[in-house]
Amino acid sequence: MKPQLWKIPPVQISGEQVDQLYEKLHQRLIEISSRYQRVRFATSLAAEDMVITDAIARENIKIEIFTLNTGRLHEASIKMHGAVQSHYKIQIRSIEPEQEQVKQFIEQVGLNAFYESEDAKKSCCDIRKVKPLQKALDGAQAWLTGQRKEQSVTRTELLFEEKDIARGIAKFNPIFDFSEQEMWAYIQTRQVPIHPLHQQGYPSIGCEPCTRAIREGEDVRAGRWWWLQKDSKECGLHVTESLQK
Ligand code: SF4
Repeated sequence: MKPQLWKIPPVQISGEQVDQLYEKLHQRLIEISSRYQRVRFATSLAAEDMVITDAIARENIKIEIFTLNTGRLHEASIKMHGAVQSHYKIQIRSIEPEQEQVKQFIEQVGLNAFYESEDAKKSCCDIRKVKPLQKALDGAQAWLTGQRKEQSVTRTELLFEEKDIARGIAKFNPIFDFSEQEMWAYIQTRQVPIHPLHQQGYPSIGCEPCTRAIREGEDVRAGRWWWLQKDSKECGLHVTESLQK
């Protein structure tokens, strides 16, 4: 029998509770944008990031949005980028890796060397994600992510406000305390556009060769770098210390 794939959970919380979530998120975004100039938000176009995009776009909050186009994304992610821009009438800047570095990496170790070695995975993420992120955050005073505590064993200590020690700027996780149920209720109640891969068993979305659909009951990040241990399923984008509960 074919295994059941993960499915978007049915909504079990009321519209009133979703309104409260929206208000909480809205207040957090207002707080961040009033404390800092040049605030940027990194979106992967996955569900968490769509919740934040929705609140930024609907309230016209002064936060720039960008996405890292690693060159290894699903075709659906490229289409989603255009669809979200049209839906909200916003610009989402596409940040790409340095092509010369990509070329050298492929020549030296091969296109998909990350399956064979953890060092190659780190190098690939460094070239395609970490360095482009650095470029995207150049001149920013603060940045935002859609990380949630519940997502993974590597994120249980996550807080609203952190210090990005790699870049020396503030970092915020405005939906750090949203449960999976709350996030999906927000999306469905407020009719937020979703990435089509969420309807094909993908709770988490990243590069095509390093992300796959998961089975019902698996950890929601099980499909990311599935050949690695649970505690090494990050890509080096998040190097922080906590500031505030
Ligand atoms: S997720 Fe995979 S393909 Fe994407 S940058 Fe990292 S190792 Fe490379």
